[in-house]
Amino acid sequence: MLAGISIERTGSKDTGICDCCGRTSRTVWGLASNETQGLAAYYVHWTLGHISDQGANIDLIVGNWGKGTTAADRCAVALAYRLLDTGPAMMVIDAGPRSFSRSPLIGKVFARDEVVGTPFAQQIFSIADAVLAQDDRIAELLG
Ligand SMILES: [Zn+2]
Repeated sequence: MLAGISIERTGSKDTGICDCCGRTSRTVWGLASNETQGLAAYYVHWTLGHISDQGANIDLIVGNWGKGTTAADRCAVALAYRLLDTGPAMMVIDAGPRSFSRSPLIGKVFARDEVVGTPFAQQIFSIADAVLAQDDRIAELLG
């Protein structure tokens, strides 16, 4: 059902300087869709040169964005990304502490325990996999 997810790049911003090394933190964002509808807006945040030790955050606003939709149609889900010796790894984390989840565009904020082990989690990972595979702005995450 989620085959054929495509992404569209919509923005990016350099957001700060790392205290320890002066490197830049960056957020890039975009939209993930399948053949028939938008699935999620995504935001990937990381510090350049710090993927191996700090990983990245992948924040998703999942749901419908079309005309007539409201915040009740959208929810916040957060993933932590790590680059391990065995390759990329992602896990669901509580979205509440992530600043994006306080957007008035969002009706529901998911905690980790509400997502892990559910079919919804598989949908989330499919979206994140598509973002990692297709958004070349975040190629650094893949090592
Ligand atoms: Zn640093």
